[in-house]
Amino acid sequence: MNAEIICVGTEILLGNIVNTNAAFIAERISRLGIECYNQCVVGDNMDRCIAQLKDSSSRSDIIILSGGLGPTEDDITKEAVAKFLRLPLVEDEASRKSIEAYFAKRGKEPTENNWKQALLPKGAKAVPNDNGTAPGIIIETKNCKYILLPGPPIELEAMFDSQIMPYLRGLGAGAIFSRTVKIVGVGESEAETMIKDMIDAQTNPTIATYAKTAEVHIRVTAFGSDEKEARKLVKPVVKELKSRFGNNVYAAEEEVSLEQSVVELLATNKMSLSTVESCTGGMISSMIVNIPGASDVLKCAFVTYSNKAKRKLVGVKKGTLDKYGAVSKQTATEMAKGGAETAKSDVCIAVTGLAGPGGATDTKPVGLVYIGCCIKGEVRVREFHFSGDRTKIRTLSAKNALILARECILEYISKVDFG
Ligand code: ATP
Ligand code: MG
Repeated sequence: MNAEIICVGTEILLGNIVNTNAAFIAERISRLGIECYNQCVVGDNMDRCIAQLKDSSSRSDIIILSGGLGPTEDDITKEAVAKFLRLPLVEDEASRKSIEAYFAKRGKEPTENNWKQALLPKGAKAVPNDNGTAPGIIIETKNCKYILLPGPPIELEAMFDSQIMPYLRGLGAGAIFSRTVKIVGVGESEAETMIKDMIDAQTNPTIATYAKTAEVHIRVTAFGSDEKEARKLVKPVVKELKSRFGNNVYAAEEEVSLEQSVVELLATNKMSLSTVESCTGGMISSMIVNIPGASDVLKCAFVTYSNKAKRKLVGVKKGTLDKYGAVSKQTATEMAKGGAETAKSDVCIAVTGLAGPGGATDTKPVGLVYIGCCIKGEVRVREFHFSGDRTKIRTLSAKNALILARECILEYISKVDFG
């Protein structure tokens, strides 16, 4: 079963709004195993909308339209579909009542053009809109199903999840289920090489790798007659990926972020954390604090941007700064150690580097970053040479700090476990 998405609205064509509806709908229908071969945008124009419907209906089983269902003159989607299918517009009693109720609840009088929204192409089904006045519309013809949805995302998304998803599921297309295995410490090409045999042999599930900032995601997607069957197909492949990548896998769930995995790792092992940040300026602690439950692990977050702050707050020695500079292995070591001691935390992550664009010297280029991690007095420091703009370098620094922390914690735990 294949579908396509037509978003109606001149403001999307002009780039005044971002077409989030298309992304939302595409993601939702892919979960149902419905294939989306085309997405397009047409302006608020009757003739072009009809031309598009002609094109789309010749090749797709389901056409989902968003936008242009409102009361104003430029809202033409319903009229275009009715004209294309040669259906007259007739008043839908239930929709009229719900418009009445919508305005009564808000103590307002509907204007004449609001009643336009109670008109439906003959034989169409109205889909109630809990967040607005324009109902959604479903029209079934011999070859094609037309689903018309209101443009405002808040209305469209709620309607889609509560009513359109069950409708589409009822059409019996099957189900798609995916899981994402998230990996750090291995580059994309290396990861691909490690699973080349699996990629070459894939049919259902399919396996795809995606390079993310400092991470690689491997998405395993299966198609089944229902979700249960699809899940069953995904399971052994995820298991195999976990065994091949071992400790480099930090999560096998789409929703789990790197920072969440670090917070969970610390919490499970009853370890506390502090951060000492220079060029990342609080980015790491902010990522950590974003995770519910951060208060169980994060003791203190220092932003030691100046040399003075490095000395005063976490006790970096003046001699170290004078001799080696703020961006150095030695300073990173003292930041990590000093942070852990001052905050009395089990783990401390420290970052010092040159995010640019200015500030480079002959020996210290932009992108040079030292990341230190101190666990129970032991410090490991790693040197990085990142490229990109200031934001990219800072993001890569924060991510790699979390990766180093994760690596050190896992190593520490395994040593403790073995006695
Ligand atoms: P209304 O009753 O509000 O007029 P409508 O169904 O007629 O709703 P449009 O007039 O096309 O929808 O769009 C209304 C608003 O919804 C837009 O101004 C925009 O903010 C949002 N919107 C419309 N289409 C999209 C889209 N494809 N992606 C994201 N937002 C959209
Ligand atoms: Mg409108």
